[in-house]
Amino acid sequence: MIDGAKAMIGRHRLFEAAVLALAFTAALLVLPGSAHAGTITAGEPSHTSADPRSIVFKVKVDAPAGLQSATLDYKLFNPDTTVGGSQPADVSGGAGEVTVTLETNSPTRYIPIGSRFTYTWTLVDKEGGRAVTPQREFIFLDGRYQWQQKTSGNFTAYWYGDNARNADLALQAAASSTAANEALLNVKITYPIRLVIWRQESEGEMAQVPRSRTLDRETITGGTRVAPDVVHIYDPYGGFVEVVKHEIAHTVTKVAGDGPFAHLPSWIDEGTAVYAQSDPGTEYRSAVDSAVRNDSVTRLRSMTSASNQASRVNVFYGQSWSTVKFMIDKYGQPKFAEVYKAFKAGGDMDAALKQVYGVDQDGLYNQWRQSVGLKPIDFPPETSTVVPQAQGTRAPLGIGTPSAGSSSQAAGGGDAAAAPAEKSSSKLMPAVIVGAVTVLLAAGMGFGAFRLSRKPKA
Ligand SMILES: [Zn+2]
Repeated sequence: MIDGAKAMIGRHRLFEAAVLALAFTAALLVLPGSAHAGTITAGEPSHTSADPRSIVFKVKVDAPAGLQSATLDYKLFNPDTTVGGSQPADVSGGAGEVTVTLETNSPTRYIPIGSRFTYTWTLVDKEGGRAVTPQREFIFLDGRYQWQQKTSGNFTAYWYGDNARNADLALQAAASSTAANEALLNVKITYPIRLVIWRQESEGEMAQVPRSRTLDRETITGGTRVAPDVVHIYDPYGGFVEVVKHEIAHTVTKVAGDGPFAHLPSWIDEGTAVYAQSDPGTEYRSAVDSAVRNDSVTRLRSMTSASNQASRVNVFYGQSWSTVKFMIDKYGQPKFAEVYKAFKAGGDMDAALKQVYGVDQDGLYNQWRQSVGLKPIDFPPETSTVVPQAQGTRAPLGIGTPSAGSSSQAAGGGDAAAAPAEKSSSKLMPAVIVGAVTVLLAAGMGFGAFRLSRKPKA
């Protein structure tokens, strides 16, 4: 365009151009007055989390022209997705040190400890000068403790205090549980897994997703798979190695069964994870035995989400385990893996079971009932079509999402033909009302899959 215009410039135009050039030079001469102030520069950024429910990011800024804005841009990585955000710092106090506090465990957001972060600061001065700090990367850890880490094969354990022996046990249990579950479900974990180990549940409480107080008081959270590649171990109750095997199994079930439009019903996810333990343990075992004796077991299709009631927690895990064991014992491992594969492809558990076993969830439930000596139930035929669950619509236990996710659960729980236990599950009230942000973030990060057990009665 400049070339094309040149030919047309006459004397008059040249004169104009000269004036403009002079004016521009004059402007440049004025500018150094403020440019003398110097360019904006940043010191070494830092991040701390003395309270594990937030991360405090700081950076020192030298902005002689005055600080206009300072923005933290962060990203969180996991094998399924990358999420991120920006948060501006309050710069009303001018330059110096600027701070952003990122809430990580609030009613509207849950970023699990063990997450891998990267971040940069973008600093802008009042003349438009910018400085962007080099990208920094870190693993978000609970700042109340002095963490140590150890890597073995595909696994890194993070621990503190006198827990080194448990870290070794965790690395061994993680490797064996992964191998066993990869063989069971015919899949491979292709990314590294991090295990974050607290000494006891009370010390890890602030790291857990907020749940109902009652449930907290009456249950023990042994561990949680908080992301596809991050597992929290909170409490060795019931056996430290068992908790690790259970949670690691959830990293494999996620790969085998969860897809963009498929989120495993809790009964098969938890059942497989308890099956991965050396033994389900007396709590789960006796709970399901007793429920069988009273015929107070739960219709399978009502077990999409884990029970929110402390009194039902052990029987939920026990029945899930018993059902999965029945499937594997009766139909064999290859077909069990096929159920996962078919579910992942279609997001419809009834269709997956029909395809592989020739029965839907009610049919499987009745086969299982008969295997434990209970009469089959004559369920009315399912008329409603199954609504495929978009990934993440299933709320993690204790986070109620009235709008999303509970629909399929409600449909099952509301069925009058169901076992007595369903009356209670249909009354599930959200323990905590949370915004879509948490659900999306939690879902995006692959949050879910607890291991709970009821506290023994004092
Ligand atoms: Zn579990």
